Amino acid sequence: MHHPAVEQVIEELKARNPDETEFHQAAHEVLSSVAAVLEKYPEFVEARVLQRLIEPDRQIMFRVAWLDDSGVPQVNRGFRVQFNNVLGPYKGGLRFHSSVKLGTIKFLAFEQVFKNALTGLPIGGGKGGSDFDPHGRSDNEIMRFCQSFMTELYRHIGADTDVPAGDIGVGEREIGYLFGQYKRLANVYSGVLTGKGPQWGGSLARKQATGYGLVYFTTRMLSARRMDWRGLRTVISGYGNVAIYAAEKAERLGAQVVAMSDSGGYVYDPNGVDIALMRSVKEERRARIDVYAAERRGAEYHAGCSGIWGVPCDVALPCATQNELDGEAAKSLIANGCKVVAEGANMPCTPEAVQAFQSAGVGFGPGKAANAGGVATSLLEMAQNSQRLHWTFDEVDNKLHSIMNGIYDQCSQAAEDFGEPGNLVLGANAAGFVKVARAMLAQGVV
Ligand code: GLU
Repeated sequence: MHHPAVEQVIEELKARNPDETEFHQAAHEVLSSVAAVLEKYPEFVEARVLQRLIEPDRQIMFRVAWLDDSGVPQVNRGFRVQFNNVLGPYKGGLRFHSSVKLGTIKFLAFEQVFKNALTGLPIGGGKGGSDFDPHGRSDNEIMRFCQSFMTELYRHIGADTDVPAGDIGVGEREIGYLFGQYKRLANVYSGVLTGKGPQWGGSLARKQATGYGLVYFTTRMLSARRMDWRGLRTVISGYGNVAIYAAEKAERLGAQVVAMSDSGGYVYDPNGVDIALMRSVKEERRARIDVYAAERRGAEYHAGCSGIWGVPCDVALPCATQNELDGEAAKSLIANGCKVVAEGANMPCTPEAVQAFQSAGVGFGPGKAANAGGVATSLLEMAQNSQRLHWTFDEVDNKLHSIMNGIYDQCSQAAEDFGEPGNLVLGANAAGFVKVARAMLAQGVV
């Protein structure tokens, strides 16, 4: 469905932010879903909600200078985009990857606004990061980089203002160095970052949460098709926390995970991936995925990661990065009989791929719903920090499970309300948008 206000806003957005192609893509996806919402709520058009919503509250860009192990000064660029805080403090991860640009962080922050709204928890949306590449850097280099990054960032964040967390390239080690520097500068021990170590304020099950949550969400998609995980061949791209813990949970529910990947290539393991071995290669040895294939009988390593979508499967969970699964990959998944696709990464499927899945009747779960378990559990970490309490793994996991069920119900209800039952892209965008837009109206023009 088209709406004149939507078309106009998208044109303006492109003109004002040339070169930010990932941001254009994310905004286009959300806004084209909300045409139906605007028909139902003309007050959103009158209040120019779209125009106000696509402009971030604040964008911070800064130099991060640090000394490498040879004593040579290095310079990177740091970002924090505080997109919208009508529902709560800005919340979203930090990404350290050589591909990071302002447009990358803006698209992630924009997605985060709606994702966080869908959780039903009091969190606004933001995202940050740097073009720093942690690969091949020593622990000391990473520490010095994180300290320099936080030396600027600390003045913009706080437990009630903006609470960063991890994303690609930022895990417990980086959060530790960032937290240590924040504490030194601000002289407060607070829940200003999530994804902390469980011994120093982190929540149990936070590391597993995005992957587990993705599987809980996918379980609902499967049961809507009268299916369950038992015996389903599952392909999972990526090699971070999301992919590894999605694999662990899917396998526990009876799936056979037959392929996983990193940025260099993929592993095909027809007998089912040995999750314990995969975890040890990644988490303990910090090695690449080809090491897994070398140690595991019957597993094959293939260079180049996009080939993973040629592996026949029933369920595909793209958990690596944006635009990793294109129209061609979607065609091959469909031809091989794939029935359900759910996004563990943020925007891993291109618009052509999403279109192809939807027209072929393949179930499609968009990331802003399917991967929201990570940020939801970050909020559970914030809650524990404020209460100065520590919940058990099962307490957190049970809460996560019901949050994911709630997200699925909302998306599927909204899809029905707006006339396209089963369209979870429309459902997620519409449900998230209505919550944010209502709060914006209530809080006035600011
Ligand atoms: N980076 C994760 C995401 O994309 C988690 C954010 C958080 O925990 O704040 O949602």
